[in-house]
Amino acid sequence: MTIDAADLKRMFDAIAVAIEADRDRLCQLDGVIGDADHGIAMALGFGAVRDALASLDLAAIEPTALLNTAAKSFLNAVGASSGPLYATAFMRAAAAVKGKATLADADFIALFQAMAQGIKDRGKAEPGEKTMVDAWQPAAEAAAAASIAGKTLAESLDAALAAAESGAEATKEMIAAKGRSSRLGERSLGHMDPGAASAVTVIDAISKSLS
Ligand code: ADP
Ligand code: MG
Repeated sequence: MTIDAADLKRMFDAIAVAIEADRDRLCQLDGVIGDADHGIAMALGFGAVRDALASLDLAAIEPTALLNTAAKSFLNAVGASSGPLYATAFMRAAAAVKGKATLADADFIALFQAMAQGIKDRGKAEPGEKTMVDAWQPAAEAAAAASIAGKTLAESLDAALAAAESGAEATKEMIAAKGRSSRLGERSLGHMDPGAASAVTVIDAISKSLS
């Protein structure tokens, strides 16, 4: 499969729809261990990305420019911590496919890994600290492993989704060490991290839109 700017736009549109549908649950999860705005932040961010991409000339734009547009609009729209985290993810994705007019399966896997690495670098969070990294990092590793093993992009993204789901589930047993919820210490135990939950929604939408 070959992915072009129009496919990436459809992917962002799919993420915006999925996040909008999940908005209240994400706010509820954030209400338990944070400040209850995570669904609003993510919906604002991906809504702004959708609006910005709608005005692009998809026949003329390369994936890198589209992804940088996504980064800028997400950052400008979101004041919460998820703003710079996802903006960095999209900027790193842009850099990972620089100069390519279309993306082969392996290019998209590299883009996906760059997103996860960008989130990790920007937030300086390690796995086990109860953040979105606990979903994104295992997802990126699973996608890369599946791809190296010769699986198709659809199969690799399926593997990423499964890994993100177990990663998000595992945050229930973690004590928050980064971000707002770290102030709760042990009281954060037993609750899923909202950023890890939204990562599953994002990865599910990516997987569905490219399969
Ligand atoms: P805020 O905490 O500013 O209200 P959001 O509610 O939008 O921001 O996002 C909260 C989520 O951001 C958390 O659930 C967590 O997954 C993620 N997060 C916070 N800090 C970090 C960090 N340093 N590294 C990675 N992810 C983080
Ligand atoms: Mg919040």
